[in-house]
Amino acid sequence: MSETEILRLLECVHDPEIPALSIEDLGVLRSARVTDNAVEVVITPTYSGCPAMDVIEADIVECLNSNGFRDVLVTTRLAPAWTTEWLTEKGREILKKSGIAPPSRCGNADFSVNKIIECPMCDSKSVELLSQFGTTACKALYRCQKCLEPFDYFKCH
Ligand SMILES: [Zn+2]
Repeated sequence: MSETEILRLLECVHDPEIPALSIEDLGVLRSARVTDNAVEVVITPTYSGCPAMDVIEADIVECLNSNGFRDVLVTTRLAPAWTTEWLTEKGREILKKSGIAPPSRCGNADFSVNKIIECPMCDSKSVELLSQFGTTACKALYRCQKCLEPFDYFKCH
């Protein structure tokens, strides 16, 4: 089985925090390699210590086991670090449909750029920060000043 086929199988593994998003959409799934009877899958966590990664790792093993691979090795690669740039276009759309504002394009390491955050409900740019921490540490809680709906913003990092 080729790497492409393994990666296709892994489309069934989703982010436990945003179940609509597959780990591929998220950019967490880096590569897969078949060696003899084993498969090695490389993932990069969205941030170090993200509790969702244990669940993702277990789901990868389960997914590949159920497809006949007994030996599954999941390697966590921390460098280069995951950035929100790795989110795919499809991933950004899914986030928005789930009511979560996708991260603004942060550019390289320049965090001083003005972040443009849009309300995922009405696309208004008049939003206010309610809390640096939303439902999970990866998100911040905002409220739209136009439709007054609170929403999660997927933090840029
Ligand atoms: Zn709004």
